[in-house]
Amino acid sequence: MPASLSEFAVIAAYFSQVGVAVSECVMGVGDDCAVIDCPPGMSLACSIDTMVEGVHFPQGYAPDHLASRVFGAAFSDLAAMGARPSHFSLALTLPEADTDWLSGFAQRLSLLAARYSVQLVGGDTTRGPLSITLQVHGWVEKSKILTRAGAEPGDLLCLSGEIGDAGAALRYLACSASDGVGSDLLQAYHQPEPRIDLGLALAGLATSCIDVSDGLVADAAHIAAASGCALHIELDHVPVSAALVEELGEDAKSFAIEAGDDYELLFSISSDKLAQLTARESSLPIHVIGAVAQGSGVHIARGGRAIATPQGGYRHFSSAP
Ligand code: ADP
Ligand code: MG
Repeated sequence: MPASLSEFAVIAAYFSQVGVAVSECVMGVGDDCAVIDCPPGMSLACSIDTMVEGVHFPQGYAPDHLASRVFGAAFSDLAAMGARPSHFSLALTLPEADTDWLSGFAQRLSLLAARYSVQLVGGDTTRGPLSITLQVHGWVEKSKILTRAGAEPGDLLCLSGEIGDAGAALRYLACSASDGVGSDLLQAYHQPEPRIDLGLALAGLATSCIDVSDGLVADAAHIAAASGCALHIELDHVPVSAALVEELGEDAKSFAIEAGDDYELLFSISSDKLAQLTARESSLPIHVIGAVAQGSGVHIARGGRAIATPQGGYRHFSSAP
């Protein structure tokens, strides 16, 4: 940090009171550790996500959007496990203590933390190339943990919301599009929503679940592998937005199944449990996009006829991504 604004001044000014004071938090920001009480009968679900400038977001990306993206991506993992979010910590590496940047970032983080009723309980603040890490924590009943394993032949394969918009938005970011053209798509990229309520509703009903961060096909492959089953997806049933169809025409669905960054939930569920779910949780559209069968891998059909399964999904250390 530059001499003008010390690390401690940054923490005090921007990160000491983010979110709501959750009852489980005995001690938050300010001491050597945060101290948290585990509610009786609950298990702790935790996950960590890092976003690096130039890798996960473009150079010069707006700080409020960055806060939304890192928050959405990190809390989406709790949604995928059926956990109720509680608190989080933030490791922030900044090239300089730019007060405009810091207030844009902290204000959006505070807004989201309040919206999802979570508390920022600690972190680390260092100087270096821009990178943000969020570690998120939530509570889940042991008997209701949603995992990638557990899909069974005969289950339906379902997806929340629509996919593909965030991936399509990336092409606009390069040319710094403003409102108007591509703005629906940009919104999906800038402000991904973690499907917390849906994850909570799925706990105890779905047999497996994952959040779609790397792309539908890539993430479906994780469920297939962990569950020891085959997943069959009908491309015509994959939900895409009107904005994506306007953008890509008839290629929209084949683009969407490989696009990342949407953070919708992909889950397997029996048909009677799906009926219970949709009776209970009507705020978000749920689409049946396929089924679970015996076998292995992910199989795509269009109009009932098998087509080649794309080998997509972003891999950081692969020479052929
Ligand atoms: P230590 O040197 O003991 O690790 P620090 O000086 O790094 O402590 O941090 C002081 C306090 O501020 C700790 O409670 C830490 O969790 C908190 N903190 C540091 N950076 C952040 C941040 N970016 N957001 C939230 N809390 C932070
Ligand atoms: Mg210490």
